[in-house]
Amino acid sequence: MGLTRRPQLLMIAALFISGQHARTALAKEPWVDTRQVGPFVCQATFPLGEYEVLFAELPELQRELTRTLGLPPARRPIDIKLFADETEHRAFLKQHYAHVPYRRALFVKEGGNAGVYAYRHDELDIDLRHECTHALLHSVLSTVPLWLDEGLAEYFEVPPSQRAFDHPHFESLRWNMRLGMVQTLEDLEQRKELSEMAGFDYRYSWAWVHFMLHGPQSAHHALVGYIASLGQSAPGDAEKRDPEIRLANYSETSQEHMLPVLLSARLVQTVPNPTEKMVQHFKHWHQ
Ligand SMILES: [Zn+2]
Repeated sequence: MGLTRRPQLLMIAALFISGQHARTALAKEPWVDTRQVGPFVCQATFPLGEYEVLFAELPELQRELTRTLGLPPARRPIDIKLFADETEHRAFLKQHYAHVPYRRALFVKEGGNAGVYAYRHDELDIDLRHECTHALLHSVLSTVPLWLDEGLAEYFEVPPSQRAFDHPHFESLRWNMRLGMVQTLEDLEQRKELSEMAGFDYRYSWAWVHFMLHGPQSAHHALVGYIASLGQSAPGDAEKRDPEIRLANYSETSQEHMLPVLLSARLVQTVPNPTEKMVQHFKHWHQ
């Protein structure tokens, strides 16, 4: 996609270089502040002083994903690019990812590059925890079902002290449940595109994750086992990283066809009537 446009960009850059050195430097390096914490390498177009607390907390995400899901640490650095405002953010994404629908914050994985792009506003901390959760999951798992990807990102987007009891989803979820509006895991597993995910789907993706993290131990075991199975499947990504992994995966997948068993199928083996149990979990969930 960048192939046809790149020559034009190079020409423009060349013009700047021949014309004015200072201007080229400014156009090439808009970053005025950087931070490196845990696997995250952050560059920003504004001073990051006011976000010291957030950056100090961010590596906790990695530790929590390992502690609660057995997820190994990120295998490569995760780039975060932060912009001073929405205008800068839009302009950068339009230039680099014109084919990606615009969002307030996003995680983009394309080829070997994975990056988080967000901008300064009151809820930047929520955006960063959300997108960095996606980034950490995708840095070690070769495939993540959409509902699980979003459910985990929603769960971890609030500060650690709010995750178990104070997530904003609780109130709407309780209203949904009172009205009998319940989303099964099988329904969520059908979602393949972000455009198919309504607010209701995000809320129930989060609810199923909460149930499996805080509900019966057998549900938690099913989730951890399922995530481990995601890491072992889909040779595509591993193929680019390491030819030895590719060989191992090929022999595995030639016997039984790649896709892991759906989590709903695993869950029902150890937690009978999982939807009913999930609803019960929230009825009795109080601090
Ligand atoms: Zn998300």
